[in-house]
Amino acid sequence: MKKQGCYYCDRDEGFRELLFEICDLKASKIFLCKDQTLPGRCTIMFRDHYEEIYEIPKAERDLYMDDVCALAETIKELFGADKINYGIYGDTCRHVHYTVCPKYEGKLGWGTPFIMFPDPEERIYLTDEEYEERKALIKKTVRAKLGLE
Ligand SMILES: [Zn+2]
Repeated sequence: MKKQGCYYCDRDEGFRELLFEICDLKASKIFLCKDQTLPGRCTIMFRDHYEEIYEIPKAERDLYMDDVCALAETIKELFGADKINYGIYGDTCRHVHYTVCPKYEGKLGWGTPFIMFPDPEERIYLTDEEYEERKALIKKTVRAKLGLE
């Protein structure tokens, strides 16, 4: 179920420049954020268009939560994060999605809610090859955790 005009349902060119699709999980689709200032930052959208998590039928919501947990654990293990932050805001981008943001002691935003948009001069971007490698590593690890591979 999709909603026209929704950033996450449409996934237009502007979306694809910032969020690189990794793969599908049980009830979700995951993306590597172009902004890798904090290594491993991803977003995870519920597969269908809902605007509040309480609207998702419980069985599907439980699967979604399994996906969120597997992704968070994957990021923590692969990148050595000290803590994972989970952000659901969506005032203007309502499709249910979490930003799963690894935090590192002493690095950007430690001890405060993760910084959604780091200053441009602080941002770390990767090469195309590095993005592909990171996506492949996350895909393999998270799908194995969920028994999907
Ligand atoms: Zn949507």
